[in-house]
Amino acid sequence: MPKDWKVAAFVLHIGCAHGAPAPAAIDGAPSARYEVTIFDNFDGAKVHACFEGFTLSHLSPMDGDAARSMGRAWSDHGALNVSAGRIELPTPTSAACVSYETRFANEVFRTRDSRAVVVSQGEWLWRPEPFPSDLDASVSIALPSGARASLPWAHDGAVYSPGEDAFYRNGYNVFGIFSEERFTVGGTSVTVARLKPRPTDAVVRQWLTRAVGTVASVGSEFPTKRLHFVVVPVDGMDRPVAFGMVRRGGGVSVLLIPSSTAGVHELEADWVTVHELSHLWLPRLYRQDRWFTEGIATYLQEVLRARCGLQSGAVSWNRIRDGLERGRRSGTGRILTSESRDMNRTGAYYRVYWAGTAFALEADLRLRRESGGKMTLLRALDLAQPRLASPRGLVHAEEVLTVLDEVSGSDFLVELGARYASSAHFPSTRLLDDPASKRTRREIMKLEPDRCAPSAESSR
Ligand SMILES: [Zn+2]
Repeated sequence: MPKDWKVAAFVLHIGCAHGAPAPAAIDGAPSARYEVTIFDNFDGAKVHACFEGFTLSHLSPMDGDAARSMGRAWSDHGALNVSAGRIELPTPTSAACVSYETRFANEVFRTRDSRAVVVSQGEWLWRPEPFPSDLDASVSIALPSGARASLPWAHDGAVYSPGEDAFYRNGYNVFGIFSEERFTVGGTSVTVARLKPRPTDAVVRQWLTRAVGTVASVGSEFPTKRLHFVVVPVDGMDRPVAFGMVRRGGGVSVLLIPSSTAGVHELEADWVTVHELSHLWLPRLYRQDRWFTEGIATYLQEVLRARCGLQSGAVSWNRIRDGLERGRRSGTGRILTSESRDMNRTGAYYRVYWAGTAFALEADLRLRRESGGKMTLLRALDLAQPRLASPRGLVHAEEVLTVLDEVSGSDFLVELGARYASSAHFPSTRLLDDPASKRTRREIMKLEPDRCAPSAESSR
């Protein structure tokens, strides 16, 4: 056993508890140390990375988009060959330092004054290959004077400890001059990077606290312990929140684009934030199963806003009714899994989202009816959470539905899901008006404010 093993293990323990950086590598363990210097105008990075304890043959970009950012690469022995973004070492080696420069070719957002930029780590974090599953990675980031970084990874100051999925999945990173705020909602610690002065810190905090509390009300606590928001306000918009998206590369980060002039109540009542956060009750699913993940999130955005008093139950039902009608009128006639797979190309979003919502509604009504009101879709999602949290890769809807059947004691969800998935017809919406379900429908949209307000406190 190495002499410093106890020290390393102790530091590791502290690291888990407080988000401190990974300890120095235990002798022989695979390690990667990245020193990243962000350029003055935040449009690229110079990276010096040293690898030890495993056989390294090349460095890979996260994907084809990221590959376009690669500039040049070199080692102490001279220039390295770069092919399709991939940095080749002359021969595989067990210890090497590599330097490279990237220019951010796929910026998510840049402020007009270029004082801040939002990118994925895919733009600057090249992955060692073959990738050791037990890699101990650290990233230190040097920034231009006065600038800061905001990433969804555990860190101690400017030293971050990215997990394996940070090398494989995109996230949202912010570099530049912007404000960052931290607070906790229930048991979840929240970091907010905000790129413009309005909406103010106080407004953003109230809005996001309410959204996290609303989505947490599915169960007893929010499905993740850490949340990183990147808030990019835009002027002159007629909607409170124009866009939202969740990424999970190394930790959950949520991009939100609100109107800079929206008031706190407008932001709270808007569906986008509740929808995006609701996705976190499910793992990432395959493309053809997006009807399921989008349907659950769309259903929750309406049910939870009624439950938590952000809109009335009547409005939620009307929105579901209108959405189902829109879904029925759109689409390309493909079966639902094909519509889901091709959605970005065909634009059949309404069809996919609202057919999925029809599934969630039918599942919820049947669970409630067959259990005499004891089981609901929301309760099943909460019970399933320990088995659905953080799988290493993508999962199928059928796997999730199998778990939901098991935890809810039901035996119809897998079959119901398969029926929706393979149908080219928009589902029946008779359940919206079925007299037999009237009381259950009222129960679904019942106002339950006590479940929706976890304590919010500053940890700044
Ligand atoms: Zn969604």
